[in-house]
Amino acid sequence: MTDLQAVLDSIHKELTPRIGEGKVADYIPELAKIDANQFGLSVVTVDGKVYSVGHADVPFSIQSISKVFMLTLALGKVGEGLWKRVGREPSGSAFNSIVQLEHEQGIPRNPFINAGAIAVTDVVMAGHAPREAIGELLRFVRYLADDESVTIDDRVAKSETQTGYRNFALANFMRAYRNLDHPVDHVLGVYFHQCALSMTCEQLARAGLFLAARGSNPMTGHSVVSPKRARRINALMLTCGHYDGSGDFAYHVGLPGKSGVGGGIFAVAPGIASIAAWSPGLNEVGNSQLGAVALEMLAARTGWSVFGD
Ligand code: GLU
Repeated sequence: MTDLQAVLDSIHKELTPRIGEGKVADYIPELAKIDANQFGLSVVTVDGKVYSVGHADVPFSIQSISKVFMLTLALGKVGEGLWKRVGREPSGSAFNSIVQLEHEQGIPRNPFINAGAIAVTDVVMAGHAPREAIGELLRFVRYLADDESVTIDDRVAKSETQTGYRNFALANFMRAYRNLDHPVDHVLGVYFHQCALSMTCEQLARAGLFLAARGSNPMTGHSVVSPKRARRINALMLTCGHYDGSGDFAYHVGLPGKSGVGGGIFAVAPGIASIAAWSPGLNEVGNSQLGAVALEMLAARTGWSVFGD
């Protein structure tokens, strides 16, 4: 039996001299203010044990990791019909690229690039005012994490609303191709608030535990999705979860995962554990630099890669 706390402690110790590496996202002004000198890592196992090191109890902006939760809600609403609106292939492009969207006539490559996530948000909004859709997501994430203290950071949402020109471009494009049912400013209002969900590593690992445990959260007994759906969401995270760095993440870490420009990475060791790493400095493709290194060390030391130990 691996002593997980010892593994986490050794990773923390080895990475401590490197904390601060990478570049904090600065295209969202509110995120640019975050102190880069932070690192947290949490692991929650399917038998309900929680292991943490570093700043695992400091809330951070989960940004694109929220796309996993929104996707889960959208699949719950429209099931496989979702795939008429968005594809399931890795993009090989930056998270906010517009070029591919024009080529593919407004149908985004996958639900984890920005365009795809904006289409997914539009699906979840059906029959709801924007405020209600935000409320639905927040309730869902609190339920998953079994923690009512999860919040949305309105300053981050506002900051992105004021500067999210590329996302407005992507959304207008999709609306022109009739792949958005709601007004662009409503959809982006919801999208920016979902990205502004503020969670700690520990909350995030708990919230995503259902993906490691065949669709149910063993800590709460809540059944969230079927085993088949959990498997499929994991497949999408493995192939598309890290923008243009997805192949590299599979190569080095070998776990389904989703990153965000706030410096968080959520990952799943199917049947074993869910994991959240956070360090705000990003590498050149926009993934947490130390977060990715920490996950590579964790996968190597536990033998958890889905490709074998
Ligand atoms: N809210 C960010 C954006 O849309 C999310 C990007 C990310 O985390 O990848 O630009």
